[in-house]
Amino acid sequence: MSKNILILAGDGIGPEVMAQVKRIINWMNAKGLTDFTVSEDLVGGAAYDVHGTPLADATMAKAMDADAVLLGAVGGPKWDNLDFSVKPERGLLRLRKDMELFANLRPAIVFDALADASSLKLDVVKGLDIMIVRELTGGVYFGEPRGIETLPNGERRGINTQVYTTSEILRVAEVAFDLARKRGSKVHSVEKANVMESGLLWREEVQKLHDAKFADVHLEHMYADNCAMQLVRTPRQFDVIVTDNLFGDILSDCAAMLTGSLGMLPSASLGADLGGGKRRAMYEPVHGSAPDISGQDKANPLACVLSYSMMLRYSFDMAKAADMVDAAVQNVLGKGIRTGDIMADGCTLVGCTGMGDALLAELETLA
Ligand code: NAD
Repeated sequence: MSKNILILAGDGIGPEVMAQVKRIINWMNAKGLTDFTVSEDLVGGAAYDVHGTPLADATMAKAMDADAVLLGAVGGPKWDNLDFSVKPERGLLRLRKDMELFANLRPAIVFDALADASSLKLDVVKGLDIMIVRELTGGVYFGEPRGIETLPNGERRGINTQVYTTSEILRVAEVAFDLARKRGSKVHSVEKANVMESGLLWREEVQKLHDAKFADVHLEHMYADNCAMQLVRTPRQFDVIVTDNLFGDILSDCAAMLTGSLGMLPSASLGADLGGGKRRAMYEPVHGSAPDISGQDKANPLACVLSYSMMLRYSFDMAKAADMVDAAVQNVLGKGIRTGDIMADGCTLVGCTGMGDALLAELETLA
């Protein structure tokens, strides 16, 4: 059955990297591997320039209806001085909020050909494949009360509240356990149950869910500070890590950097299962709009391409097609074809379009 994909390419290098993904989508459709109907719209600064808002209501409605949303990147110096309420990033936040995308999936994969680019030793990171599942819509970034107040003695006090309910914990933990079953069957649940009540609740609820529904998956609880240390000491011990919004923010960036370059990092944000095989979802590279290289055909499109492969896998259960895209990326890197950000001695430098050419040639071979 045909699936509707909404593409929001955004600003800066967003449209450049997305152009390579569109070539792959067209190729897969033509080969009969997929049956995707693609529509495109504006987000971020590009939307502000036309509509005076970083996400028009009509675009939001399309995103709610789509089977999946693919996003490029938003932002850039042109819009840096806009009022906070219409900054490009607000478009992204609205998408996440209105689609209720509560589970953020950030894989940290070390490709063999790029293992040297990691800041850690080769033997520590070789073959690394971690999935971090971060709770995205709750916790201390949203908890009330919050604010800055002035005390009677004139001193100021800043307040944020870490708060989680049972249902918020269970739905994100369920995503993590489901993923683990399709991977290495191991989940590390990460909090600070030793010093935070919300962490203790997190630990208890995750354990209960595990015992009731996912006893076949190996579960370990870990304190967030220890997890940070273990990630740079022996990262390969991890398969799936599930954690709250704050710890996930930090740990996913830390894990990402084990892999080398920002231009290689995809992500997925998932909402609730709506039944009938439908779940709201948005896929986007981790990097931003890279104004320093935009318009120069220098951007690495692989993060966006790998986000598309996550879409195939997690929204449409098309593991074979996803494996094919991943293999094309592996093989192209294996042949020493590189954009500037991942360039190494003895490799061939290509631009964004050149990387797209190489991927399509590789896909032809694989098909
Ligand atoms: P950035 O990720 O855009 O760039 C950081 C550095 O990495 C730059 O030197 C850039 O050239 C390089 N880089 C990033 N992606 C690359 C790619 N695919 N290929 C090659 N090199 C790449 O972060 P920044 O410079 O802090 O932010 C620039 C703008 O992007 C800002 O307006 C920021 O708000 C926005 N931003 C958006 C998102 C998003 O859309 N999700 C995320 C982060 C930043």
